[in-house]
Amino acid sequence: MTTPTPRGQSRTITCKHCRKPAENAGHGYCSADYQRWTDAGQPPEGPAPARHGRDARRNAYLAARLRGLNVHDAAAAVNISTRTGYRYEHALATQLKATA
Ligand SMILES: [Zn+2]
Repeated sequence: MTTPTPRGQSRTITCKHCRKPAENAGHGYCSADYQRWTDAGQPPEGPAPARHGRDARRNAYLAARLRGLNVHDAAAAVNISTRTGYRYEHALATQLKATA
């Protein structure tokens, strides 16, 4: 019987794609890039560039939340789904934890 080589659950890496420090989601990518890469069928050239406009939309959403709108209204104000609003908040909370 062989013992598997122990591995860290999640290694902190510099993402091969966006160059940000992140937990290794797989193949040296952060979770966002790894997700985009696997969604694209793991092309050898790596993940597609992050969609333009997403950061701007997320910032606009967060600004609306800071103005006191609830998730539903803030999402509607920047023309995203409520579900996407929750995803932005989850992503932000994860970022804040990672940089704390
Ligand atoms: Zn990345």
